[in-house]
Amino acid sequence: VMKLSLIKVVNGCRLGKIQNLGKAGDCTMDVPGCLLYTRTGSAPHLTQHTLHNVHGVPAMTQLTLSSLAQHHEVLAEYKKGVGNFIGMPESLFYCSLHDPVSPCPTGYVTNKVLQKSVIIGVIEGGDVMEERLRSARETAKRPVGGFLLDGFHANPAVTETRLRLLSSVTAELPEDKPRLICGISRPDEVLECIERGVDLFESFFPYQVTERGCALTFTFDCQLNPEETLLQQNGIQEEVKYVDQIKKIKTTGCSEEMTSFEISLKEKKYQEDFNPLVRGCSCYCCKNHTRAYIHHLLVTNELLAGVLLMIHNFEHYFKFFCSIREALKNDTLAQLKELIHRQVS
Ligand SMILES: [Zn+2]
Repeated sequence: VMKLSLIKVVNGCRLGKIQNLGKAGDCTMDVPGCLLYTRTGSAPHLTQHTLHNVHGVPAMTQLTLSSLAQHHEVLAEYKKGVGNFIGMPESLFYCSLHDPVSPCPTGYVTNKVLQKSVIIGVIEGGDVMEERLRSARETAKRPVGGFLLDGFHANPAVTETRLRLLSSVTAELPEDKPRLICGISRPDEVLECIERGVDLFESFFPYQVTERGCALTFTFDCQLNPEETLLQQNGIQEEVKYVDQIKKIKTTGCSEEMTSFEISLKEKKYQEDFNPLVRGCSCYCCKNHTRAYIHHLLVTNELLAGVLLMIHNFEHYFKFFCSIREALKNDTLAQLKELIHRQVS
């Protein structure tokens, strides 16, 4: 049976390992962590071979029930399972009802593929404390492998009230089962939720960033001195003018607009910028290409732009989660949080 072993809890933040995962029960997954975001079973823009070259890919892949249902007859005929079908035989799968990026039709819940799976209990109740607590207590009584915290992402995304609600809900849940939150993927919001006892997140944020022609450039390296930080972000001060624009976006609640964690490679100023997306980044894109090249690919509508940005954005995002676990280990999460929040505005 899937089980979460906590290694350490610091101010509500949980560092641990989910054990007994997979068919043989021999897989593990570190938390806090994220799932690999996919579209109809595959990482957006990437072939399996390309995905293998991304460092730190999560052990668990997120599928949506609707995509599984669409392939249901083919899968039944194929007989070797969805993992082999999409070319990811070793991956663990988390099947969600909805794709966080695009809404999908309902009514597919009779799928036989899911019968042997661990069931994740969904905690509902909107913004009503009483209802949330009732949902948490009742779900905790049932034989579920973990919990999905649903509906904490509706506009406006993360408010103080909602964070308080989140703390109260997680306090009702057993410690040894993982808590996954859906719809929250932005770095600053991820940290807020980890402090309230959340273990797992979706990774649709790097995909959204890719789709708008942007690259994640935020820093999460607390070891760098301020000067180096500035150098690494390279031009973040020029981005300050966007902050006002971003604030406006935040108040209108539109999460698909650019954030201060990224740069837009479509901008003309990158036309002759021969730096990598992020200095010191170990990803394939940063090791081989420049911002100028990505700019060129974007303005000429080359599909390779999406591929290279996806490689970088996934790797950058997965490394961010790695840095969260490291910070928890080393008791430096407060510094990391400060560093991230300094980049929000
Ligand atoms: Zn990179």
